[in-house]
Amino acid sequence: MSLAHLLVRHAGHAADRPAILHGDAVHATYAQWAARSAGLARQFRDAGLVPGDRVLLFMRNHPRYLEVMWGAWWAGLVVVPVNAKLHAREVEWIIDNAGARWGFVTSDIAPDALAGLERQVDIESPEADALLGAVPDPMAIPVTERALHDTAWLFYTSGTTGRPKGVMITHRNLMTMGLTYFVDVDAVSPEDAIVYAAPMSHGAGLYAVPHLMAGARHVVPASGGVEPAELFALGKAIGPLSTFAAPTIVKRLVDHAEQMGLSPEDAARSFKTIVYGGAPMYVADIQRALRVMGPRFVQIYGQGETPMVATALSRRHLADSAHPRYLDRIASVGIAQTPVQVRVTDEDGRDLPIGEIGEVLVKGDSVMSGYWRNEAATAAAIRDGWLFTGDVGCLDADGFLTLKDRSKDLIISGGSNIYPREVEEVLLTCPGVAEAAVVGAPDPEWGEVVVAFVVPAGGAQVTEAMLDQHCLEQIARFKRPKRYLLVEQLPKNNYGKVLKTELRARLT
Ligand code: AMP
Repeated sequence: MSLAHLLVRHAGHAADRPAILHGDAVHATYAQWAARSAGLARQFRDAGLVPGDRVLLFMRNHPRYLEVMWGAWWAGLVVVPVNAKLHAREVEWIIDNAGARWGFVTSDIAPDALAGLERQVDIESPEADALLGAVPDPMAIPVTERALHDTAWLFYTSGTTGRPKGVMITHRNLMTMGLTYFVDVDAVSPEDAIVYAAPMSHGAGLYAVPHLMAGARHVVPASGGVEPAELFALGKAIGPLSTFAAPTIVKRLVDHAEQMGLSPEDAARSFKTIVYGGAPMYVADIQRALRVMGPRFVQIYGQGETPMVATALSRRHLADSAHPRYLDRIASVGIAQTPVQVRVTDEDGRDLPIGEIGEVLVKGDSVMSGYWRNEAATAAAIRDGWLFTGDVGCLDADGFLTLKDRSKDLIISGGSNIYPREVEEVLLTCPGVAEAAVVGAPDPEWGEVVVAFVVPAGGAQVTEAMLDQHCLEQIARFKRPKRYLLVEQLPKNNYGKVLKTELRARLT
């Protein structure tokens, strides 16, 4: 069974249904998508690419992204998605490490010739038109059979602690992720539409799998990215959109809705479901999002090593504001998703009592088969089938997991553990604060001290004294930042994660 079979199926029974849209224009029906992907698969084979070979995608969001992905899978190849913000040197390192043979690029981000590729194809060139030329009978080109444990998606970690590692995600992992979406995230009908606003090289792109399973529409905005006005208008034009968004993107959508004076009913005309995750969503932010845009949010927690699947906080839990532990619940990442078990353990993998903070472990069919050509890293990350996520958190008696921080972000000051997230949550409730990020700075007396980077909301007058007073009223003195740095913006990566390493570097 290969992910390509999903496309074959819909090309048969739903041939004329719009499948891929570019803006509000139909780019491909299901039959056309299959015909182009099958055509590409034939060319891969004719050129001597064999099952298991790697094909790199170094592209901005583009309607052809999906055609290339499924073309590769049709031929039994492995897709290597690359963050469009990487430097050419970093991409070349990945090409070499993955042994990628062909690469598809958008020319605005890629140099003319990336070292190491046998063939580089500009996705908007006549060469790409020819490669993706529809074949008259896609069914005459058989899908290369794959075992479910074969790798489909070789995803490179962001490499914040050393060189990136290639995460081997199998066909089974992605099938599991797709089916789990329907149980734990949202029901999907063929009339629905998923919009790829966040980068398709990451989780957002993987949500193509459940939406293909459901035969829904896949929409790449004309701008290729996150333009709130465009997304609201697009949803209104073609029907309410679903999307995956990092909390920073959610914030931009909510800001827009508020600025335009939209009601939750207006928002409902543009958006069906907004799945958020990938970075912490603060309580104050999700409450505002629910107030402004209504009950259309679902949270997921996952990581490259168990993509989109670890825990989820459902629409229902987010709506249950009468629950006595509501605030704790919306500060959590929810409960284990259906196909996985989640535990919190000490360093030796022993379960911790409810409420105690330790490392988060995940086991189940969404967990990677290992790191590409890196047995030592695989053995360290997966022990007895359990993935050691490197995230730190605790479980409550009802099974809700609350993430604290990645272990490397923990601050130890005067021997006490301080979780930056807790301090950030408090800073965000201070009037006039738009964003906050807290890190530890080396200190001769305390080991580390807490430093807060704060972004004031447009036009707001925020002072250090105000922030300090606010913290004094809400958290223990030892957790209070020793320094507040007012900044215009926080450094973030392409997926909307605040780059704490960069913030720490500014302090040394
Ligand atoms: P990546 O492998 O790039 O997808 O990054 C995964 C990491 O992002 C996780 O290990 C978490 O540290 C963080 N993360 C993912 N989802 C959430 C979430 N819902 N809330 C907080 N952090 C998250």
